[in-house]
Order: sequence, then C-alpha cells, then structure tokens
Amino acid sequence: MHPYPELRLFIGGQWSTTDTTRPVINPATEAEIGRLPVAGAAELDAALEAAQKGFAVWRRTAPRDRADLIRAAAGVLRSRQDEIADAITAEQGKPLHEAKLEVIRGAEFFEWDAGEAVRTYGRVIPSAPGVRYIVHHEPIGPVAAFSPWNFPLSQPARKVAGALAAGCSIILKAAEETPAGAIHLARAFEEVGLPAGVLNLVFGVPDEISSHLIPSPTTRLVAFTGSTWVGRHLTTMASEHMTPVLMELGGHAPVIVSNHTDVAAAAVVSARRKTRNAGQVCTSPTRFFVHRQVYDEFLETFAAEIGRTVVGDGTDPTSNMGPLANERRVPTLHRLVTNAIDAGADLITGGEPLDRPGYFFAPTVLANVPAEAQVMQEEPFGPLAIVNPVDDIAEAIAAANAVPFGLAAYGFSDRADEIDQMVDGVEAGNLSINTLEASLPETPFGGVKSSGYGREGGSEGLHHYMTVKNVSHSIAIN
Ligand code: NAD
Repeated sequence: MHPYPELRLFIGGQWSTTDTTRPVINPATEAEIGRLPVAGAAELDAALEAAQKGFAVWRRTAPRDRADLIRAAAGVLRSRQDEIADAITAEQGKPLHEAKLEVIRGAEFFEWDAGEAVRTYGRVIPSAPGVRYIVHHEPIGPVAAFSPWNFPLSQPARKVAGALAAGCSIILKAAEETPAGAIHLARAFEEVGLPAGVLNLVFGVPDEISSHLIPSPTTRLVAFTGSTWVGRHLTTMASEHMTPVLMELGGHAPVIVSNHTDVAAAAVVSARRKTRNAGQVCTSPTRFFVHRQVYDEFLETFAAEIGRTVVGDGTDPTSNMGPLANERRVPTLHRLVTNAIDAGADLITGGEPLDRPGYFFAPTVLANVPAEAQVMQEEPFGPLAIVNPVDDIAEAIAAANAVPFGLAAYGFSDRADEIDQMVDGVEAGNLSINTLEASLPETPFGGVKSSGYGREGGSEGLHHYMTVKNVSHSIAIN
C-alpha cells in the first residue's frame, strides 16, 4: 500500500494547513488515517481572490493550450493509478479493483472535456449587408463546486474537467470524509503547470463554506453533486444572487424487467451492479419491477447472486463489496429495512449491519414492498434492492415514475414495442436498455424532477460552464 497523502488546502497555487483539523476515518477499520485542515473565512476569501486572478489568466488561454494541459494532468493520474486507488480504498472503503477503475474513469472525464474545449462553437446569424451578428460562447467565470464522498476522485474530476475545459477557474470543496482523491487531482494539475488560482481546493464545515462562497460576487456558477435536500438549499442560496446552478442530485433508479428477456442474465448483472460501491451510487439499480410471469425466477436468481457477494475490507483482493463510506449511513439503512418489514415487505436476504468493526452492512433484498414503506420514496444509497411484481410494462412505468426522482432508469426486454413504451414513458435523464451502464464521459448525464438540473459529460457538458454573448456589429453607425 502507498502511504495516505498529506492533507492540505490548495489556494492560489500554494499548499497550506490550518490550526483546526478534523479526522479522516477508514470506514473498514474505523482507524484515523489523516487530519484534514478546516478552512475559515480567511482561507475562503483567499480562495475567492485567487479564483478571480486565475480566471483572468485562464479565460485568455487558448482552448488548445487548456486542452493540452488538462490531458497532461489526466496522464499524471493514469500514471499514479495504484497510488491513488490505495488512498481511495483507505478513505472510502470500496474494493481496490473498483478504486483503480475510478482513477481511469476520472482521467477519461478530463480527456473527453479536453476534446470539447476546442469545440465550444458559436455561430454567425444571417444579417443585412454591413451588419454582423456573432454569437460567442464564453466561460461563465469562477465556479464554486461541491463534490461528494462516493467517488473521491471521479466526482471532483467531473466538475474540475468541465470548469477548466470551458475556461473557468474553480474553487472545489471536496468531501471532508474522502479528501485524498481531490488532493491527488490538485497535485497532478500543479505538476503540469496549471497557472496559480485556476484550481483551488478547500475543506471545512460544508455549510460554512457554501454560505461563504455562494453569496460572493466572484462566484458565477454553483456546481453540486449530492443529496436533493442539500442541492435545494444551495440552489435557494444561489437564487438570491441570481447565480446559476448545476445540480446532480439523488436518484432512486427503477429497473423494469419484462417477461420477454433473458431473466437469469438480467438478474445476475443487476445483482453485481447493485453491490458496486456498496450501492452508494446515484445510478444504483434499486427498485425492480418484474413481470409477474418471471417474478419468482428473477427474485431467486437475483437474491442468490446477491448472497454470493464477498463483503470485506477493500484491500482484500477477495472482497467484492466494502463497507458503507461513513458511520451515519448504517442506521439510515437499518431504519429503511425495519420500516419496510413493518409495512409488510418480505426480507429475502441481508437486512442487518455486520457484527465486526467498520461500517459494514449486509447486501439486502426486500420483496413485495408496499408503496407506503419509506424506502419506496427515500433513496437508500446503499446495498439494498426492492423487487416487486407487476402485471405489464405500463404498470411498471407508472411505478418507476412514482417518485420525485428521475436520474437513471433501466429496462430489460427483447421487444421493440416494450422498449418504445419505456423510451416514451420513463421520466429520467438517463435510460439504459439491456445494460446497467448509465454514464460515460461521452454521454450527457443528469436528472429530471428532483434529481437535478443540467448535464455533465457529452457535448452538453460544457454548456453550464459557459455563457452566451451576442455581438451585433454594424459597419456604419445607425
Ligand atoms: P448529506 O445530504 O448530508 O450530504 C451530501 C453531500 O453534500 C456531502 O458531500 C456533504 O459534504 C455535502 N453537503 C452537506 N451540506 C452541505 C452544505 N450546506 N453546503 C455544501 N455541501 C454540503 O448526505 P450524506 O449523508 O453525506 O449522503 C446521503 C445522501 O446524499 C444520499 O442518500 C444520496 O442521496 C446523496 N448523495 C448523492 C450523491 C450523488 O452522487 N448524487 C453522492 C453522495 C451522496
């Protein structure tokens, strides 16, 4: 194992610490692995000033030069895959092989957005002779970004990639529980020569940081990934200053399983995807609506595959699911399970925290869960799946849409008419048919309803980091 990195703030190109620190805990062992500096008002003001200066330089840097530098930093991340993965597993708990894939995915986000940096085309609008109307896309300005703890490297990477490719500077508040991914990211950019102030990294008390950065006139965009509740709070704060937001919030992904599909194959891939990152993924497949004709077969195969999950410390190569990333998630999951059983659900497997040190929770399958159970509306964000029977695709779509969320949704069917019904009827930003892949660098990702606003990735990914300026130019004064 590589040593866990020193935890510092990165402001205006300088690494610094503060008198107040907070612990970072390994969720598999509950051991303290580092102390994280807590930024106060002075550090946040310094970050705002640095971001303003950084923006003045970066917005005038040619897109091709920005792209080269971003690609170089992505190369550094790739070259440190093992070292960064060790840090991610230590602070977040996921198995090492997942952490290694996360590092590569983070690099891919940078590489994709670097490519987009040179394609932020404007347009020329037809006009009378002697007049030109030209639409320019300009970087919006310094971004205040907040990234969560479920993907310590690739979540910050998404926001930093979008901002930097568009020509913005950024102040990133990465998750206090999992700071090392963002530290490695800042180091990579420092090493390839990013101008000072373009990327600034702070940690501290989340509410103190957001209520300092968001009202500042320096901040021109608020980008957040996390819970709907916090997203709404930040959006309200931003709206008081007319500051736009990019919000990637919670999901509660439905999976529609037709009787016209390879039921066993669908059950096995779904079970494996469910336990990925211990279910702490906003696109995690959670509410399964299975045609009654194949319900028993699906449930049996799915629960058997879930039961084969080897839960353990992410550093153990035999583990394929680690602990929950933080202590507060354990009672939350337990409450959702107990409440569902009280409401009449059948517990098929799991349902309990594991009796060992660390924040481990058994992979859990609930069946026949009544609509009034809390888990039917509240995203469990853990290794918990609900498997309910339905009579047809229309009923499944109605059930899929019966939540305030609309991020990822999935369907398994071989029939074009059923797929057409799903494409037409499912309320989600991302619908995947016969695959559980919901988000790639080249595809736009984001939600509808309470799952958020805006898109990351794809050719849409830089839109929110840019603003439009129309220039009308008349040769003669008129
Ligand atoms: P939470 O709502 O307390 O925090 C979610 C994230 O927001 C954390 O990273 C936290 O540091 C940050 N945050 C909290 N208050 C903030 C504030 N005032 N200003 C700025 N940032 C703030 O929830 P939690 O217990 O950490 O996670 C549970 C829920 O969060 C899950 O149920 C899930 O819905 C959501 N979540 C979503 C994602 C995602 O990828 N969309 C990732 C992590 C968590």
